[in-house]
Amino acid sequence: MTTAKRTELSEIGEFGLIERLRGFLPAKSSNTLQSIGDDAAVCRIPEHNVQLISTDMLMEGVHFDLSYTPLMHLGYKAIAVNISDIAAMNGIPSHVLVGLALSNRFSVEAIEEIYKGMKLACDDYGIDLVGGDTTSSRSGLGISVTAIGFNEPDKVVYRSGAQVNDLICVTGDLGAAFMGLQVLEREKQVYLANPDMQPELQTKEYIVQRQLRPEARMDVIKNLKRIGVQPTSMIDVSDGLASELLHICKESQLGAYIYEDKLPIDPMTFDTAREFELDPLTVMMNGGEDYELLFTIAQADYEKIRNHPDITVIGYTKPIEEGVNIYTKGENLVPVTAQGWNHFKV
Ligand code: ADP
Ligand code: MG
Repeated sequence: MTTAKRTELSEIGEFGLIERLRGFLPAKSSNTLQSIGDDAAVCRIPEHNVQLISTDMLMEGVHFDLSYTPLMHLGYKAIAVNISDIAAMNGIPSHVLVGLALSNRFSVEAIEEIYKGMKLACDDYGIDLVGGDTTSSRSGLGISVTAIGFNEPDKVVYRSGAQVNDLICVTGDLGAAFMGLQVLEREKQVYLANPDMQPELQTKEYIVQRQLRPEARMDVIKNLKRIGVQPTSMIDVSDGLASELLHICKESQLGAYIYEDKLPIDPMTFDTAREFELDPLTVMMNGGEDYELLFTIAQADYEKIRNHPDITVIGYTKPIEEGVNIYTKGENLVPVTAQGWNHFKV
């Protein structure tokens, strides 16, 4: 039984809530001239920079399940996935705005829990939460985040910039968030069948955390800048490697070859995929929600990233006529398709 305090939203009203959020979210950046409290936020972007703006929406029942998602993690994730889009443009994030659709199921304390996670993410990424909108909802929680960032125009990296014979790189490892989701869904079913059962999540901590609390790879963006590597094209891995690679190839009008044995996978992801009788390759190609970065670099930059612990070269780009292909471990050359890996068994 929880004895936590519960303040109904109706007790303090929308304005009361906004006042509390305002006190909780003081602006930190000198680029924030007006934060929550006026009709619009007023933010400065550095001179000679362009603005990057991106928005993403998370809906209860579609993007998250509150039966196993801690509200604080949800708040963190809502910010992180938006910052990931700014990172994927090689941008520097500066501000976010948050739209909330709330049902009266949510207490003020629950909403504050979401904002605690958001604040943590804002502090981690060095950005300010400068406003938003609040509305009621009759069907679950909705969170819409708009992220704003900037960069010099010639430092912005597009999906369309890859050149023939560039190296294709990916950060971190793939498929973990998807396998984390499978574990959470399984434990939910176990719990529904027998509420006395304790969820078995301890041995799956890494992949579960990858699902519940992903990070935007701003660390890699800063790193690449420091070592003097400007990617030729870039995208973040939200829908799975296959889909993102196809996006880059389509926008850059190129083909590609990638190699299964180069694809980075954590042993826990691999073992859990086997446990669920899923093909680890399918999981990496189509899993989604990893929020790693997929990017291309000129071959001349290879030496600079060769020993980078968080970057793996997985293949190279080719003329468009060659198509987008993967060399499997069995030495088969298979075309990459966005859904083609589903139910593919080795
Ligand atoms: P308006 O009627 O002008 O849209 P609101 O009452 O919606 O004003 O918002 C007042 C202030 O509170 C604005 O600065 C707005 O950005 C901020 N705000 C409203 N809802 C949220 C929210 N969920 N999170 C953060 N800031 C919010
Ligand atoms: Mg409003």
